[in-house]
Amino acid sequence: MNLRPIVAGNWKMHKTPTEGASFVETTVNLLLDIQHVSVIFAPPFTGLFDMDVPPPFYSAAQNCHWEEKGAFTGEISVSMIQECGAEFVILGHSERRHVFGESDDWINRKVKAVLAGDLKPILCVGETLDQREAGQTELVLKSQLEQGLASMDSLKEIVIAYEPVWAIGTGVTANNEQVELAHTSVRKILKELYPESYNIHVLYGGSVKPGNAEELIQVPGVNGFLIGGASLDVESFTSITRTVETVQMRTL
Ligand code: PEP
Repeated sequence: MNLRPIVAGNWKMHKTPTEGASFVETTVNLLLDIQHVSVIFAPPFTGLFDMDVPPPFYSAAQNCHWEEKGAFTGEISVSMIQECGAEFVILGHSERRHVFGESDDWINRKVKAVLAGDLKPILCVGETLDQREAGQTELVLKSQLEQGLASMDSLKEIVIAYEPVWAIGTGVTANNEQVELAHTSVRKILKELYPESYNIHVLYGGSVKPGNAEELIQVPGVNGFLIGGASLDVESFTSITRTVETVQMRTL
């Protein structure tokens, strides 16, 4: 299996539409020769509108509601995201789960709505430090995947991001062995749930930086990155993308 790697930048609540547009223009111009990596920008909703990027560049929303329309103040539907030209929607990010209290049931509804709208979910899963220290990492991944992906027809268009909560925005990166073990668990669980789910991207996220990208992208089972902090800076983001491109080219 040699999937085309994905490098996705989750901007969280950073960059106004003007700042975002300028960032994307600069970054795309610096990466015009990229051929073996898909690059995703995930701005806040306000920055999504009219973000016109040609493949291999794509845009993603950071969340959505599962209903098509209605009295849901502050929410955004899949068709609104579609009309902005986005291809992906990040779901179940640890900040949505732990800061905003999203449940696996909600996340499952969102995954289904995104697929029904012909967009691709990037479903985030990962354990907290307490759960890891209690030896529950695999149990947590299983529970999040089982519930988040409950009663689906197929996983064909889904991307999974393994993001240990203790490594997000902390500067602490999971070591290679931890990443490999977790990715192996994710694949095993996916296979148990959906036996034909062999070519699913599983990204790693958690303090990915230019200095650790080369090592992490070579960990078996890692098909790219979901990046927070380092995706906000042109130099860091382009450097990580170039590293992934170079490593990928060696395998072709
Ligand atoms: C994230 O928010 O998904 C993330 C991985 O953040 P950071 O790269 O800053 O750890």
